[in-house]
Amino acid sequence: MRYVFNPAPTVSLPVVGSPLRFPVHRIYCVGRNYEDHAKEMGFSGREPPFFFMKPADAVLEANAGETATLPYPSLTHNLHHEIELVVAIGKGGKNIRATDAQQHIFGYAVGLDMTRRDLQNEMKKQGRPWCIGKGFDASAPVGPITPTANAGNIADAEISLQVNGQQRQRSDTSKLIWNVAETIEHLSAAWELQPGDLIFTGTPEGVAAVVPGDTLSGAVAGLTPITVSIK
Ligand code: MN
Repeated sequence: MRYVFNPAPTVSLPVVGSPLRFPVHRIYCVGRNYEDHAKEMGFSGREPPFFFMKPADAVLEANAGETATLPYPSLTHNLHHEIELVVAIGKGGKNIRATDAQQHIFGYAVGLDMTRRDLQNEMKKQGRPWCIGKGFDASAPVGPITPTANAGNIADAEISLQVNGQQRQRSDTSKLIWNVAETIEHLSAAWELQPGDLIFTGTPEGVAAVVPGDTLSGAVAGLTPITVSIK
């Protein structure tokens, strides 16, 4: 095959304990999936899960023991952190039942759904798409992927984010409104999941702004933590 220019390289992430890398296909994100975060955003009650996407090349690789650099994005004065559990799909499918979801999961990682909150809020107000608030370049820092067998009890794991050593977000994945299996059921009813898909499962309460010079440290118990500095 010959192209009119070189195609973009495949986006991929390291796999813990393996020399092989995980090639990223799509990035799906779940909105308002922890009750106390839904409340801080002005909503309450259990609503059906809803989704948005980031482009695969929005991934910012955040390697173990390193500090990844995230350039402060353009057009915003209110860049927010959202610490999230990321699910890595290893086997695709559509209309996957929650009871079968586990066999589709390759592993898990720690991720940040970075958000230009001012732009997102303006788009919400106008009933316009969230892309500009959510899908900008480097908006998806993600750590190495831990295969399911080594990830511990991911359904009941502490999730936390510190900024410059101060706790900003702290919760537990057991508080997900729609758990990982239910999320896969809903998502795969709308799209055929493919190997390489990443699912950002939503953030707990405590989202707030970061500025250049800040260092973010994110963790989910059992997974490789990530460190990102804003430049
Ligand atoms: Mn989010």
